[in-house]
Amino acid sequence: MKFNSKLIHGGISEDATTGAVSMPIYRASTFHQKVVGGTPEWEYSRSGNPTRNALESLVADLEQGIAGFAFASGSAAIHATFSMYSAGDHIIVGNDVYGGTFRLINKVLKRFGLEFTVVDMQDLSAVEKAVQDNTVAIYFETPTNPLLQIADIEEISKIAKQHQLQTIVDNTFATPYNQNPLALGADVVVHSATKYLGGHSDLVAGLAITNDEQIAEELAFLQNSIGSVLGPDDSWLLQRGIKTLGARMRVHHENTEAIVNLLKNDSRVAKIYYPGDPDFAGYEVAKKQMKHFGAMISFELQPGLDPKQFIENLDMISLAESLGGIESLIEIPAIMTHGAIPRELRLKKGIQDELIRLSVGIEDEEDLIADVKKGLASLSTQTVNN
Ligand code: PLP
Repeated sequence: MKFNSKLIHGGISEDATTGAVSMPIYRASTFHQKVVGGTPEWEYSRSGNPTRNALESLVADLEQGIAGFAFASGSAAIHATFSMYSAGDHIIVGNDVYGGTFRLINKVLKRFGLEFTVVDMQDLSAVEKAVQDNTVAIYFETPTNPLLQIADIEEISKIAKQHQLQTIVDNTFATPYNQNPLALGADVVVHSATKYLGGHSDLVAGLAITNDEQIAEELAFLQNSIGSVLGPDDSWLLQRGIKTLGARMRVHHENTEAIVNLLKNDSRVAKIYYPGDPDFAGYEVAKKQMKHFGAMISFELQPGLDPKQFIENLDMISLAESLGGIESLIEIPAIMTHGAIPRELRLKKGIQDELIRLSVGIEDEEDLIADVKKGLASLSTQTVNN
């Protein structure tokens, strides 16, 4: 099956007992066992639930893995994945990651003795140089949140393999529609399924998918042991959202290109971060490893122009955290999604106080363009001319 058919028919797409074409929500915590000491398929819903299992088999298919694991949030999926490692293990981490991942690493995982080195993943020699005797894994996002930096998954996975390290890619921004890290050499893919996979800003969920038997066994053990599993209702809702991923992404992309075109040609905009822009640093690598460039844009206004004024003058595009939903969302990472990163460090990473991040939705292109134009028109042009 091709990708869009897989979205609908992949994994376990119907109920084996009834033939229901929408997997039922099995809202049971436990299952009747017929004999004492048997090996029943279902025993307790933390260890396994048929609705969650249907979702997990679907996402494994979509990411070209052998097993998928659904968690209560993207952060829970990332936490469970890092839990494969032990005190004293060293992990190389991309220097531009979601603020919550930064917080998880620095405020939680370091307390358990994991060691981290932060590296610019665009610089392959820096990645190689960061490998130590105790390094076990390389973890990164591509495109990154919020600077949309692109890391070469194939090349980084090669470095990892040379040193017997595992490669973990957060594929939230790209989605499996645009990029399949496992096919490019990665060992684990994680997602905040809260975003494009759910697609409707109505659930919080996370996923980890692997194509390696041993990692699959370990993740199954950790999912059950830590217990931050996705419940059956949200598993169903996520599976329903995933069915329209392809249809949604095509509109997301069309709208994004129109907005990028508008912003690029407006003198009030100083800088755009978008992997599909041929002038963008990561363009060539993005073209090589992505089917399309996604629907996230970050940008900076000319010095002196107020991003708050721009945002507060928008009518349809909502000021909100999160991304990847059908509705367009805008935010200022420095004080919202990436507020957990100390200012000095954030500026060093290149996340300016004024950076604006836009998640382009699937509203009508004309309405989106009119809204962005309205926001831009509210800015004082005098400041730019000065
Ligand atoms: N990874 C990325 C790239 C994200 O943007 C986010 C959340 O914004 C997460 C992981 C964490 O996901 P969740 O909010 O579902 O815990």
